[in-house]
Amino acid sequence: MTGKTFETRDPRTGEVVARVAEGDKADVDLAVKAARKAFDHGPWPRMSGYQRGRIMMKFADLIDQHIEDLAILDTINAGKLFKIGKLIDIPSASQLLRYYAGAADKIHGETLKHSRELQGYTLKEPIGVVGHIIPWNYPTTMFFFKVSPALAAGFTMVVKPAEQSPLSALYYAHLAKEAGIPDGVLNVVTGFGPTAGSAVASHMDIDKVSFTGSTEVGRLVMEAAARINLKSVSLELGGKSPLIIFDDADVDMAVNLAQFAIFTNKGEVCVAGSRVYEAAKNWTVGDPFNPNIHQGPQVDKAQFEKVLKYIEIGKQEGATLLTGGKACGDKGYYVEPTIFTDVKDDMRIVQEEIFGPVMSLMKFKTIEEAIEKANNTKYGLAAGIVTKDLNTMNRVSRSIRAGVIWVNCYFAFDIDCPFGGFKMSGFGKDMGLDALDKYLHSKSVVTPIYNSPW
Ligand code: NAD
Repeated sequence: MTGKTFETRDPRTGEVVARVAEGDKADVDLAVKAARKAFDHGPWPRMSGYQRGRIMMKFADLIDQHIEDLAILDTINAGKLFKIGKLIDIPSASQLLRYYAGAADKIHGETLKHSRELQGYTLKEPIGVVGHIIPWNYPTTMFFFKVSPALAAGFTMVVKPAEQSPLSALYYAHLAKEAGIPDGVLNVVTGFGPTAGSAVASHMDIDKVSFTGSTEVGRLVMEAAARINLKSVSLELGGKSPLIIFDDADVDMAVNLAQFAIFTNKGEVCVAGSRVYEAAKNWTVGDPFNPNIHQGPQVDKAQFEKVLKYIEIGKQEGATLLTGGKACGDKGYYVEPTIFTDVKDDMRIVQEEIFGPVMSLMKFKTIEEAIEKANNTKYGLAAGIVTKDLNTMNRVSRSIRAGVIWVNCYFAFDIDCPFGGFKMSGFGKDMGLDALDKYLHSKSVVTPIYNSPW
């Protein structure tokens, strides 16, 4: 509509890789109009779950046929490790589609026997048009966390990918059309948060917004929803997730999990175990196309500078820099894996989400102290525990206020396992049947009965 475009860059070099349409409110209006029409009059919500599922299966097959190209897009656009994209991120997109395709014809309500005079049942119906606003750290996974259950539920939708990493979302829209998803069902509008994103959050004709991103922007999205039409909101927000290593832990496992927890995906993970209590280094940084590299560049210049700023803050706050702490390479946005020790609970590097490869190590003496430290955060996304003791495992799992507890593992995702936060990490789950449920509302149908025997 506006005809404007913006540059999207390769974080390995900082060079422009493509110019992308800069959608704004007018474009969002058009996309919502198409989605509204497809919901109110189109075939998608009206066809059987089985039929929707078959089309979603075809979409999944097409993704499998383009794994390599899609992994390249997320590497050159978001600095993701190519090998991981090819082996995990892109295949998990088709897996998510198939999981929810299989659930599309198993959406049931309940039969209710109210009393001798009344009986009823519930219908599970799609809420309507959904706006998905997604971040850049997992461009593919986030897209399918949102889109797959919503498609299965019979929604039509507008997706606003992050401005840093819009390329794979455009490719997915193209494959969706090829798979036979009807026009108007899946619309992608690329653009910036304060314009396109905000237009989605505050659109009168969007019935639900499903947002993943920072807590600050999540608050804006909820405010907009409250102000405009009280649309249903689900928020997957930031985290500051502890990894607690008890003294009975297998040391090799603990060290591996500690480095995996924080340095995976360059620390650009919402569940980064950034308050780990023990760890190690030897994490290689470099070109994400190299299969031997553990860590690629940060997603863009702003994120790169933010991480370096937090490292300076850590030093100023009096933490001891054990290793790392600098940018590396002569171009691109690479940061050394960094570990601070002697950190205190109230330091900014402990409390605030850095979203970079910066680990803080803290010690504790008792289980109670570990639990207290782990809960001493406004976030509640995830936590890790490393222990051999069954009771420690059970007790600590129940005591930590976070949406996911990983015991003797970290980042152990399974499609069937709902994922989402407590406290200021948001509400509403991705994955599992919980995610399907969040796209359905329950309608009660009540009818009188005359001369009932019971
Ligand atoms: P962000 O909040 O800056 O942006 C996320 C999305 O919101 C982008 O598409 C952006 O364009 C859009 N946006 C920005 N301003 C907006 C506005 N005013 N109105 C509507 N939309 C707007 O987050 P980010 O920097 O892209 O991503 C990193 C954050 O995402 C981290 O805080 C991370 O923890 C979080 N995250 C959470 C999860 C989870 O499942 N909980 C998963 C991944 C990332």
